[in-house]
Amino acid sequence: MAPLPERADAVVVGAGFAGLATAAALTARGLRDVLVLEAEPVPGAHSSGRNAAMARRVIEDPLLARLATRSLELVRAADDADEDGVRVLRPTGGLLLGDDAAVDALLAAAATVPDLAADARRLSPAEATALVPALAGADFHAAVHTRECGIADSHALLTRFALHARAGGATLRYREPVTAIHRDGGRVDAVETPSGRVATGLVVNAGGAFASGLAALAGAAAPAMTPMRRHLFVTAPFDGVDRGAPFVWDVSAGWYFRPEGEGLLLCACDQTAWPPEAPPVDPGAKEALAQKLDALVPGLRGARPTRGWSGLRTISRDGRFVIGPDPEVTGFFWVAGLGGHGMTTAAGVGELAAIGILEGALPAPYAAGFAPGRFATSTSSRGSSPSGEPS
Ligand SMILES: Cc1cc2nc3c(=O)[nH]c(=O)nc-3n(C[C@H](O)[C@H](O)[C@H](O)COP(=O)(O)OP(=O)(O)OC[C@H]3O[C@@H](n4cnc5c(N)ncnc54)[C@H](O)[C@@H]3O)c2cc1C
Repeated sequence: MAPLPERADAVVVGAGFAGLATAAALTARGLRDVLVLEAEPVPGAHSSGRNAAMARRVIEDPLLARLATRSLELVRAADDADEDGVRVLRPTGGLLLGDDAAVDALLAAAATVPDLAADARRLSPAEATALVPALAGADFHAAVHTRECGIADSHALLTRFALHARAGGATLRYREPVTAIHRDGGRVDAVETPSGRVATGLVVNAGGAFASGLAALAGAAAPAMTPMRRHLFVTAPFDGVDRGAPFVWDVSAGWYFRPEGEGLLLCACDQTAWPPEAPPVDPGAKEALAQKLDALVPGLRGARPTRGWSGLRTISRDGRFVIGPDPEVTGFFWVAGLGGHGMTTAAGVGELAAIGILEGALPAPYAAGFAPGRFATSTSSRGSSPSGEPS
């Protein structure tokens, strides 16, 4: 294997959505000497390779709704069909269900983003059921439909970021766990892996669930973030939902489904605080999901979950992302805490991070909303366990 470069303008730690989107955006803005270091043998080995692939831009938090909308705009602008005519984004639409208060909150957030406001439409249960007949008998009070949401090929999106980063001059290295981050006083000056040491004045912490541990290596305090385990299951072939149907997500009762191959992808929206690792599947999760859906969505009773997996969504205490310069350690830049929206927002996250790095500050209102130092009760991360409460 080629030796590590002796120095880099920026070292991005982590090749998930956060790291690869940031590397691609940095090189697109002219920073050539970018080195991405990933501990695993492939990109997206943790959260980014385990997500549900729903591109959802109707989000209760107006800041995240705005970023998701910008992100999907960036994805669509570069979404040329491949040789088989396949694009990254399939605009199947999205249908969010809930009680009246939840749907009001979604629509209020959507109203703050002009392009989204024009797309988000309130539906009655009867109208929503006309769109997705499998909802007959399900208990929800209202719905929001958007045409521009949909399903993404998240592997293709991740690959696209990696290709763009490489084409822009970045070096991507796998099986390179960062084991030390050195400082000269209050300033980052090198990183170390088992293969060697790289001098750099800028380390981007895109470590996902491991971000707090990386902060500890740099002697930085971690914002309050907690990795939360969630399970996804796929079913055997099921013909009760049209293949082109929108994804359906009940934000009040906590479940979602979407077409996946000849069957469905199902989720009970479970979340359990979990240490940073590749989480195992809970042996009871499949049965718990089946029971929840049997009780709440009679139209899915024939869809039996077969195979499943779990992943970590790293959620900050206020549910917002952690993007920006560390308040104490110069040259340590956070791109973390992307929670359950990191695939949809990745292109926008990369853009914001690159602006923050190259221009010294994120644009308003993101600078304050995502500031790593915003939690008054921040706790020291000088240990490897996550801190803080889930949102
Ligand atoms: C079950 C589930 C469903 C989801 N569904 C959706 C969805 O439908 N839509 C959506 O938008 N989002 C969804 N998400 C959220 C999305 O997947 C995450 O927000 C996103 O993947 C986070 O990306 P990341 O790059 O921050 O983290 P990761 O993908 O975990 O990447 C971090 C990388 O850093 C590397 N790393 C850590 N420490 C080191 C080190 N010391 N040295 C080198 N490398 C290191 C890790 O190996 C890892 O590859 C879902 C997540 C889960 C778990």
